[in-house]
Amino acid sequence: MSRYWSPIVHRLTPYVPGEQPKLDKLIKLNTNEHPYGPSPRAVAAIREAADDSLRLYPDPNADKLKAVLAQRHGLTPAQVFVGNGSDEVLAHAFLGLLKQDHPLWFPDITYSFYPVYCGLYEIAYETLPLADDYSLRPEDYLPLAGRRAGAIIFANPNAPTGRLLALTEVERIVAGNPDAVVLVDEAYVDFGGESAIPLVERYPNLLVVQTFSKSRSLAGLRVGFAVGHPDLIEALERVKNSFNSYPLNRLALAGAVASVEDEAHFRDSCDRVISSRSRLTEQLSELGFEVLPSVANFVFARHPRRDAAGLAAALRERAIIVRHFRAPRIDQFLRITIGTDAQCDALLAALGEILA
Ligand code: PMP
Repeated sequence: MSRYWSPIVHRLTPYVPGEQPKLDKLIKLNTNEHPYGPSPRAVAAIREAADDSLRLYPDPNADKLKAVLAQRHGLTPAQVFVGNGSDEVLAHAFLGLLKQDHPLWFPDITYSFYPVYCGLYEIAYETLPLADDYSLRPEDYLPLAGRRAGAIIFANPNAPTGRLLALTEVERIVAGNPDAVVLVDEAYVDFGGESAIPLVERYPNLLVVQTFSKSRSLAGLRVGFAVGHPDLIEALERVKNSFNSYPLNRLALAGAVASVEDEAHFRDSCDRVISSRSRLTEQLSELGFEVLPSVANFVFARHPRRDAAGLAAALRERAIIVRHFRAPRIDQFLRITIGTDAQCDALLAALGEILA
C-alpha cells in the first residue's frame, strides 16, 4: 500500500502464478507445461535466429507467423492476431473489446486471470455457477443480451476442471448472443477438444484464443494468438500499437513459425499426453480418487476421504508439486499436470504411500 498508488492498483487482487521452483529435482506437475520438449525444428530455428540480426527490431506485424497460422486454420492473415502468450492476447482483447458499463460473464470456476483483468481495466463482471458435475450449462448463457451482457468468456476445455463443452453448445452460445462478443479461451483444446476456430467465418462476434505454451511445449517462448473477424482483430491491433508495437521478439517469431510447420511432432506429442492421461485417470480411480473427465493436459481429482491441501503438502514432502486452489467448491481437488510416464508413476507411488 502506498499513497502514490492509483486507486485501481489499490483495489487490485493480482493473479498468483503457479510456482516455478528453483530446484530441478522436483517433479513439477503444477503449471500444465508439456512433459516433452518442443519441436526440434523450432529449437533449431531459434538457434539459427540467434545471430547478428538480433541488432534489428523484429517484424512489428509478425507477418510470417500470421501467414502460417492463417494457412493452418484456413483463414486469412487479417483474421489472426499474435502476442506474448495468450495472457497478453487476452489482455488486449479485454481492453479492445469489452465495455466498462456492460458486464463480462464467465463461469464461477474458471481461469482466475479473468477477474484480474476486469479489475485492471475496471470492467464489471458477473459469474454463472457451473453445474454440480462442474460442467458449463449453455442454457445459462442464452440469451444474456437481455441482461446487458457486453461479453462472455469461457475456457474450453475449462481450467482447472478440464471439462469440455461440445462445439455445438459453443455455437449455441455464440449464435444466441449476437450483440455480445464471445471469447473462447482454447489454451488446452489440442489435447482432444474440438476447436471453435471454424466458426469464426460465420460469427463476427466470436474470438478464439490459443497458446503455444501447452500443446506446442513452448511456454518459455511466450507465444499466443487469437482468431476472429478482421474487425475484432483490428481492435486488438489498435491496443497493441498503443503500447507495444512489437508483438513478439525475433527468437519467438522464428521458433513459433517452425513449430507450426512441424505438424507431425505436434500431433505425436499431443497423442502421447492423451494416452498418459487415460492411464493416469484409471490409476487415480483405482486409488479411490474421483477424476473429472478431462480433455486437457491435466486432471482434476478429489479423494472422498482425504483433505486435498494435506495431500498436496504430503506430495511436496516427497518432491512432487501439484496445484491446489483454496477457492469455494474446488478446495477438495488437486489439479495434476500430465507428466512423463515416469513422473506419473512416481506420483502414483507417492499417493499410494500417503493413502496407505
Ligand atoms: N488460458 C488458460 C485457461 C490458462 O490456463 C493459461 C495458462 N495459465 C493461459 C490462458 C495463459 O497461457 P499463456 O499466457 O502461457 O499462453
